[in-house]
Amino acid sequence: SRPEAGGESSPEKLLAPVLSAFWDEDRSWTLEGYRRHEGYEGLRKALAMSPDDVIAYVKEAGLRGRGGAGFPTGMKWQFIPQGDGKPHYLVVNADESEPGTCKDIPLLFANPHALIEGIVIACHAIRSEHAFIYLRGEVVPVLRRLHEAVREAYAAGYLGKNVLGSGLNLELTVHAGAGAYICGEETALLDSLEGRRGQPRLRPPFPAVAGLYACPTVVNNVESIASVPAILHKGKEWFRSMGSEKSPGFTLYSLSGHVANPGQYEAPLGITLRQLLEMSGGMRPGHRLKFWTPGGSSTPMLTEEHLDVPLDYEGVGAAGSMLGTKALQCFDETTCVVRAVTRWTEFYAHESCGKCTPCREGTYWLVQLLRDIEAGKGAMSDLDKLADIADNINGKSFCALGDGAASPIFSSLKYFREEYAQHITGGGCPFDPAKSTAWA
Ligand code: NAD
Ligand code: SF4
Repeated sequence: SRPEAGGESSPEKLLAPVLSAFWDEDRSWTLEGYRRHEGYEGLRKALAMSPDDVIAYVKEAGLRGRGGAGFPTGMKWQFIPQGDGKPHYLVVNADESEPGTCKDIPLLFANPHALIEGIVIACHAIRSEHAFIYLRGEVVPVLRRLHEAVREAYAAGYLGKNVLGSGLNLELTVHAGAGAYICGEETALLDSLEGRRGQPRLRPPFPAVAGLYACPTVVNNVESIASVPAILHKGKEWFRSMGSEKSPGFTLYSLSGHVANPGQYEAPLGITLRQLLEMSGGMRPGHRLKFWTPGGSSTPMLTEEHLDVPLDYEGVGAAGSMLGTKALQCFDETTCVVRAVTRWTEFYAHESCGKCTPCREGTYWLVQLLRDIEAGKGAMSDLDKLADIADNINGKSFCALGDGAASPIFSSLKYFREEYAQHITGGGCPFDPAKSTAWA
C-alpha cells in the first residue's frame, strides 16, 4: 500500500489522520473530547488480553519507535524480564528537542489522553505499576494540560488502583525537565529523572535490563505510545494496511522552513516529500527546494534529487540518510548552506554535555572553522579539516549527539563543497541573509 511517487494518490487517501484527527475540535484535550472519538476502547480490549498477548499483538502490527531510531516497539517491551521480582518502569520520552521536530508537543497539547491510554496498555503489557512522563520543562501550557488530563484519568478509573476492575494498579508521574537537549537521550533522561545531572550512561546494559533505579525499564517516545490505542482498537491489519512492509502505519511529519504551509502532517510512512509538498501547498511562492532534512538536523541532508525517496526507514536509509524524527526542514535557493550548518553546529556545541572529548572539543572546533569560512576568513585546507574533525567525532563519541553533529558536516560537504569554496575564494558569504526568512 505504499503511495505511488509523483503525487498521483489522492490526498484523502494519504492524509488519513488518526493521532491528529480531532486536534482542532473544541476542548479536544479533555477526557470528554477523547471519549467522543471512542477513546479508551483500545484499553478495554487490551485489558481483556494477557500481557504477553498484548506484546505479541503490537509486535505483529509492526509498530516502530517514533522517537528517531525506529526500533520495534513490541520487541522492546518483550526485552523486559518477567518474574524477576524487580519493579518494572515505563518512561515516556517527551523531551522533544531535535531541531525541526515539533510533533510530540502538539500531540500532547491537543490529545494527551491518547498518550495516557497508551501508557496504561503498555504498563499492562510489561507488568509495570509506575510510569513516568519526562516532558520538556519549557512547554508550561502543555505541562498544565497534561497534569489536568492525568487528574481526569485517575478520577475516571483509568489510573490508580485496580484500573477498570482489571487488577492492574498504576501510578503515573509527570516530570518536567529543565531544557537540556541531551536529556532526550534515554539514559541521560533516566539520570535526570533520578535527580542527577543528565549525562548518558554506557549501553549496554540497555534500559530494558537496568534502567530507572537500575530496574528493567521501557523508554518509549510519546508518538510511539500514543499510536498503540488505535492499533488495539482498530486492529493490527488496519495498521499494516498503511505504510510499507517494514515500516507500517501512520505517523506525524513536522514540515518547516521555506514552505508555504508549515505544520504537522499525519500520513503513512513511505509517502514522499514531493507528495507532502504537493498536498501542503509546496515551497513558498517563486522559490525552489535546495536542501532538506528527513529527520531533523542530526540526519544527513538531502537535495531536490531525493524528492521521490519514500519516507520510511528503508527508503531514506538507501538514500544515504536516516528517517529520524521525520522533521522535514526545507530550505530554498536563498539559503546559505554554510550558514545553516554553522547554526546547527553551534547548537550541538552548546548542547554537548561535555562527557566525552571527541564531541566536547570537536563541536567547539567545528564552530570556529565554520564561522571563519562564513566570514570569508577560511582557507581551502579547512574543508579537509572539517571532514577530518567530523570523522573523529562520528562513531567515536559516547552517545548519538556526536554522530548527529557530524552528520550535517559530511552531507553539506558532499552536496555543496563548491559553495564552501565560494566563501573562501570570494572572501565571504555570497548570500543575502535578508532574503532568507528561515534565519529571521
Ligand atoms: P538506538 O538505536 O541506540 O536505540 C533505540 C532504542 O532501542 C533505545 O530505546 C534502546 O534502548 C533500544 N535498544 C537498542 N538495542 C537494544 C538492545 N540490544 N537491547 C535492548 N534495547 C535496545 O538509538 P538512540 O541512541 O536511543 O537514539 C538515537 C535516535 O534518537 C536518532 O535516530 C535520532 O533521530 C533520535 N533523536 C530524537 C530526538 C527527539 O527530539 N525526538 C532528539 C535527538 C535524537
Ligand atoms: Fe556528551 Fe557529546 Fe559525549 Fe554525548 S557525545 S556523551 S553529548 S559529550
